Amino acid sequence: MEIVLEAREQALVQRAADFAREQVAPHAAAWEAQRRMPLETFRAAATAGLGGLLVPTALGGQGLSYTATARVVEELSAACMAFAFSLVVHNNLADNIARNGTPAQREAHLPPMIRGERVGAFCLTEPGAGSDAAAVRTSARRDGERWILDGRKAWVTNASVANLFSVYAQTDPALGWKGIACILAEDTAPGLVREAPYVLIGGHALGTGEIALQRCAVPAGNLLISPGDAFKAAMRGIGVARANVGAMCCGMLRASLEQALAHAARRQVFGRPVASYQGMQWQLAEVETNLLAARLLTYRALAALDRGEDGTLHAAHAKKFATRAALSGIAECMQAMGAAGLRDEHSLGRHLAGAKIAQYLDGATEIQNVVIARALFRARGVETA
Ligand SMILES: Cc1cc2nc3c(=O)[nH]c(=O)nc-3n(C[C@H](O)[C@H](O)[C@H](O)COP(=O)(O)OP(=O)(O)OC[C@H]3O[C@@H](n4cnc5c(N)ncnc54)[C@H](O)[C@@H]3O)c2cc1C
Repeated sequence: MEIVLEAREQALVQRAADFAREQVAPHAAAWEAQRRMPLETFRAAATAGLGGLLVPTALGGQGLSYTATARVVEELSAACMAFAFSLVVHNNLADNIARNGTPAQREAHLPPMIRGERVGAFCLTEPGAGSDAAAVRTSARRDGERWILDGRKAWVTNASVANLFSVYAQTDPALGWKGIACILAEDTAPGLVREAPYVLIGGHALGTGEIALQRCAVPAGNLLISPGDAFKAAMRGIGVARANVGAMCCGMLRASLEQALAHAARRQVFGRPVASYQGMQWQLAEVETNLLAARLLTYRALAALDRGEDGTLHAAHAKKFATRAALSGIAECMQAMGAAGLRDEHSLGRHLAGAKIAQYLDGATEIQNVVIARALFRARGVETA
């Protein structure tokens, strides 16, 4: 499938590729070892134009298509998936504010977010609500000219550094998902407590952690999306994010395959290059086929989103296949490199952890199957849930 981009979009993808090579790849192993989110590089990325990718140009952003945005994300992920996803989350909140915000919210938040001076975070998941996101229990209560938020948000990407949190909170439990509102909370809001970031198998540049909301008071004007619309908007955003996760997996797998091919051509075993053995050739050929298939599914989903179609089903197929292809393919590339594949300098270990993490981002693999199975049966007149 040919990916057609405008010249302006191509230039930004190239800028992202250069940025990834010069400013992300050389430092990603150190960020992992130090378990830190590199705020200074995040800001440099925004300065390079990567802070408002989806925001219309009239509002100061780049106004990119979903396809072009995913190409940017793919290039960054080839160097560091965690860094790329941190930017994805930030860009998605900027897009959300551009789409749904009041003029005052746009004016207050978009310029500093586009410049990277303020970092955004998306807070849907809770310790007791992951796959079943509609089960959130964080409450939002109106008190005069304020909203009072009470609860705890888990697995918040950028939590360690974010200045603006989009909090999905329940206004009326009797209404179920229709009672959920999206409210903006600044890091300075009284009662918002940032917890220590999680220690994970990898991906520490995500800065993922929990925030506690303890009678957290924010102005009434911080309501971004009203109950009834907020959950639908969150699901729409998650559909786009799933396609981006597909692109991230393509980036990691492509980078791993390139390293494995170069190593196999160089490395001599039993007097011949490893690449000369058919077993090795076929092993890496399988990885290439899966990479191409993952790209086709991913960019098909993005093309549907760019046409304004509901890309939910396409994105579910793309995310499920691309995360699996990345996890198994990166392991195959590591195997092809022998023990050298384990070394930090080759980055395959980081990509392997990144591929495993990608299986949970924006809905685990099983939830993609729930979406796919529901569509299969609905087309035959059977409701599954
Ligand atoms: C590094 C990282 C960053 C994240 N960043 C964010 C973020 O910025 N904001 C945010 O809101 N969330 C974020 N998440 C949360 C992510 O969306 C959830 O992890 C994901 O939705 C799965 O929820 P869970 O981990 O609670 O799994 P659970 O819901 O506890 O599920 C456990 C297992 O059961 C399976 N399962 C669940 N339901 C079914 C079913 N019906 N049928 C069969 N199997 C099922 C799941 O697939 C999973 O394998 C992040 C997660 C990670 C790992």
